Amino acid sequence: MTFARLGLIDPLLAALATLDYKTPTPVQTQAIPAILAGRDLMAAAQTGTGKTAGFALPLLQSLATVGAPVASNSVRALVLVPTRELAEQVCESIRAYGQNLPLRTCAVYGGVSINPQMMKLRKGVDIVVATPGRLLDLHRQNAIKFGQLRILVLDEADRMLDLGFSRELDAVFAALPKRRQTLLFSATFSDAIRSMAGTILNDPLTIETSPRNTAARSVKQWAIPVDKKRKAELFSYLLKRRRWGQVLVFVKTRKGVEQLVAILQGQGVGADSIHGDKPQPARLRALERFKAGEVQILVATDVAARGLDIDDLPLVVNFDLPIVAEDYIHRIGRTGRAGATGEAVSLVCADEVTQLAAIETLTRQMLQRVEEGGFAPDHRVPLTNTAGQVLKKPKKPKKPKIAGTPGPAERKGGVATPQVRQGRSGARAGGRKSAPKTASRRSS
Ligand code: AMP
Repeated sequence: MTFARLGLIDPLLAALATLDYKTPTPVQTQAIPAILAGRDLMAAAQTGTGKTAGFALPLLQSLATVGAPVASNSVRALVLVPTRELAEQVCESIRAYGQNLPLRTCAVYGGVSINPQMMKLRKGVDIVVATPGRLLDLHRQNAIKFGQLRILVLDEADRMLDLGFSRELDAVFAALPKRRQTLLFSATFSDAIRSMAGTILNDPLTIETSPRNTAARSVKQWAIPVDKKRKAELFSYLLKRRRWGQVLVFVKTRKGVEQLVAILQGQGVGADSIHGDKPQPARLRALERFKAGEVQILVATDVAARGLDIDDLPLVVNFDLPIVAEDYIHRIGRTGRAGATGEAVSLVCADEVTQLAAIETLTRQMLQRVEEGGFAPDHRVPLTNTAGQVLKKPKKPKKPKIAGTPGPAERKGGVATPQVRQGRSGARAGGRKSAPKTASRRSS
């Protein structure tokens, strides 16, 4: 399959050639002709599968070939995204794909001054990429009018609901023209998403290019059981011992993020952070420095888990497991993108066993556990199964009282090393990496 055979026009094909996109990805192969044909779409596509180009290319083509030029303070296509970072990233991608077309694209989101965004909208913008809250502010102030709007894209729709944007989304839907094409993209489809789709989509084509709620297969996943209080020590140890390069680390809380960054910086490791308490310019700067390789470790709350596209990121570490199991899929989707392989390592303590079981149920696979010598937890992590059950707490192996007495593993004919293995997927005995989680939230 080629992009030309999907019916894309020459200016887009030329842009794709400069970006070195040779073959459409599965979601692009299915979505592009359907969108060009004017269909509504409900697409379940894993992050990193090329879904941005999947909607942006036909959207650009449709705007370039049909309809009147955009009027002042108007917009012809709207892309709603959950976070500021994703807004910037999607806007950049659309500009790259549309580099040979006379269309204007801009991003609007909260946390920064509204005036420059109002100025940009004054002349009219063909494609606005927005977070819902700021978009409504702009609409209330008459800076943006929806009379000319023909296409609505909801990107990471499940994340928008997780972040509590449901009311804002309803207000946006109510303000938009009823006659429009609507495209809904989501990495995972909850019942809430399906019910929203039922009210805003018109006879949609459903695309599911990967099994529901499974993480990218190219990501090797494993877990290291460890006591909560030793997580930072273990992370520093693994960083040195396994000679990790760039790592994206997820931590549950903003405070936890800053604590880990301080520890790493104290050890002379280049580390920066992204979380909801940081002003937007500082967050973007941290991301740019990480992308440019100027800092080795980027520590983030889940605000960074969605949509960030970082080339060749080999490793994601869940320093804490996410509260919401779906976030696990989004976090580890930061690695193994566009066919590259990656690893995702989770540092799991006994308190997190319920979250672990929820993740294993959602992904339908057990996370292989690999203990790290010297870090075997005092509080053992109970065993789990993919039915989401926490099995009974394993007994801590007793230390032999008399030198030379075989330990429990040896008595059963197993190895005497304290490694616990579980599950069918994942890591080699030598193991490698992991990442933490989050709590922070909305963007506008
Ligand atoms: P996305 O899922 O849209 O975030 O895209 C993930 C990554 O894949 C981005 O770095 C894109 O530039 C890249 N990408 C998307 N489509 C293609 C393609 N057809 N060929 C090569 N790279 C692609």
